Amino acid sequence: MLPGLYVHVPFCGSKCPYCNFYSIPSQIPIAGWLKGLEKEIFHTKSRFERFDTLYLGGGTPSILSDADLERMLSLIFDHYPLTPDAEITLEANPCHVTLEKANFIKRLGVNRINLGVQSFDDRVLKFLGRRHSSQSAEDAIRHLRAAGFQNIGLDLIYGFKAQPMKAWMVTLKKALSFEPEHLSCYQLTLEKGTVFERRSQENASILLPGKTAAAHFLATSAFLENKGYVHYEVSNFALNKSLESRHNRKYWRHIPYLGLGPSAHSFDGKQRWWNVRSVRKYCKALNKNRLPVEGNETLTKEQLHLESLALGVRTRHGVDTKILPPASENALFMLQKQGLLKIKKGHAIPARRGYLMADHLPLWLSP
Ligand code: SF4
Repeated sequence: MLPGLYVHVPFCGSKCPYCNFYSIPSQIPIAGWLKGLEKEIFHTKSRFERFDTLYLGGGTPSILSDADLERMLSLIFDHYPLTPDAEITLEANPCHVTLEKANFIKRLGVNRINLGVQSFDDRVLKFLGRRHSSQSAEDAIRHLRAAGFQNIGLDLIYGFKAQPMKAWMVTLKKALSFEPEHLSCYQLTLEKGTVFERRSQENASILLPGKTAAAHFLATSAFLENKGYVHYEVSNFALNKSLESRHNRKYWRHIPYLGLGPSAHSFDGKQRWWNVRSVRKYCKALNKNRLPVEGNETLTKEQLHLESLALGVRTRHGVDTKILPPASENALFMLQKQGLLKIKKGHAIPARRGYLMADHLPLWLSP
């Protein structure tokens, strides 16, 4: 498999209270960031020969003006060879997707959209601090379809008290009425440094209790699989195998990737490195003709092995049983008996309940 290319666009209209991705609620530094990106591309363009996926994430790439989007993509296309059938994904916020914008993005060569819908319930959207409404999410999907997008992924969030099971199922059913090719259903977690984390420390309980959250997870998986979706990763569902995110698959299978932009991570098969989490520091380093790398680590054989295990049990691809130590045989047998794992074509594959235990499976399989 060829490497993947990721570009981090670190700008958002505002900061959502649950999000700890690096982004700033200002568009003023966009011009400086684009100049920095051009320099980073210049310094890294010979690192990999060719890519078969490009993922424009963030932040909110759809916040860029048409001129800035065009500039970003022409910089990438001019310097990084992409295969003719490359998967090119852009993350979008519904409030930016007009019919004109959707047509423009399509003309630029983007062939996959990840739309941050999160919910089709305005009350829930307000709780999540989102800037768009349920109506604008519906309009955005229609505009994307009208522009000819045949690979649309919707991001949804669940697992919090403000959205009981009944309300969550209404959102899920509404999402399916648009026949999206891909769904990412994320269980809300309290990320470090977020407003939600602070609120929960101040005794505002936000998340569902463990058992209820598990029930929501199992119900989501059963409902979507019943509707024909493949539950191919803990939080991800695709209408068929060819519609799974090719780019994200690289992260889960240790395929190399190059990340550009503040906070972006890269991996070459052995070494991982990551950029500074600040637009200002990013631009400053590149203006001095230095790469904006903040840190790196070289993974030992053992670390790579443990990571393969931890990543493998989170996906339908599973773990090649040949990499498991002989001492894991008993554990494998027990996990199958408990309905947490299945063995298929020499791979240990998590069952629906196994996904729930994905954090614990590697410990049991690598005694
Ligand atoms: S969730 Fe998305 S839109 Fe909200 S702050 Fe994070 S990156 Fe920006």
